[in-house]
Amino acid sequence: MFESLSDRLGGVFDRLRGRGALTEADVRQAMREVRIALLEADVALPVARQFVDKATEAAIGQNVLRSVTPGQQVVKIVNDALVEMLGGDDAEAAELKLDVAPPAVVMMVGLQGSGKTTTTAKIARRLSKGSITGRATKKVLMASLDVNRPNAQEQLATLGTQVEVATLPIVAGQQPVDIARRAMQAAKLQGFDVLMLDTAGRLHVDQALMDEMKAVAEVATPNEILLVVDSLTGQDAVNVAQNFSEQVPLTGVVLTRMDGDARGGAALSMRAVTGKPIKFAGVGEKMDALEAFQPSRVAGRILG
Ligand code: GDP
Repeated sequence: MFESLSDRLGGVFDRLRGRGALTEADVRQAMREVRIALLEADVALPVARQFVDKATEAAIGQNVLRSVTPGQQVVKIVNDALVEMLGGDDAEAAELKLDVAPPAVVMMVGLQGSGKTTTTAKIARRLSKGSITGRATKKVLMASLDVNRPNAQEQLATLGTQVEVATLPIVAGQQPVDIARRAMQAAKLQGFDVLMLDTAGRLHVDQALMDEMKAVAEVATPNEILLVVDSLTGQDAVNVAQNFSEQVPLTGVVLTRMDGDARGGAALSMRAVTGKPIKFAGVGEKMDALEAFQPSRVAGRILG
């Protein structure tokens, strides 16, 4: 993944590494190329600009020009700036906050086709197996509030059977807010630790969708609201994140299809645009294809 960004930066850095002394103009030239590489990888323009300004300042401020290995130092500065941009190595920020009086509620939001239902089941599976940051196993209930897409509720039930996680029985014709209420009640009465709500998507962000999200959030008072975005959609993913984060109090982001050849821009912009950590990366269609998001690893892959 991230091929074009990685190749492009690789070229810049190879030239820098091969050089002895660097001038300030060399550093600025390299950073201009970094900026172009970021834009080509679909990083949002203000984010790319901010990144390059910060990295340039760090490079010039840290006396790389007088160093014996200036090229390597610039590479390290860019690496550090990438890690920071991807959320830093604050492992705690990436954890789900579920240590509340049960049931903890995790609400999944996002556009149709982003991988929301799949990710709901993947996270539920990990929680029920205790494999999210080595925590104790959780008793998880999943409920689909997606009454728009035909068979969405059945799809979640099927995945539930597959990952051995309970799903709320389907009541035909019931509306999202009422399903959320019923799910809360069931989770409380039946002693579930975590309730995962898979909300309805839309093809595009629209006000009806946002109003529905807000109404559900009011009823379910979620501890986590995770936005699921498809990393392959580049700049579009960034716009979606911007829209959702302005209207719904997100606590984190999940990037799906990181197994595809995403150019990495979506990942890079996500934190800057939402101000929220990327918590997980989807890396395939299978139920175990979900990873905790690790900024330093992704930065390493970007730099090649
Ligand atoms: P929803 O409409 O947002 O609920 O999307 P779905 O969960 O139904 O996912 C749409 C398609 O994307 C399905 O075929 C999933 O198997 C696939 N998918 C979801 N996440 C990933 C991922 O991380 N990698 C890959 N390769 N496919 C994924």
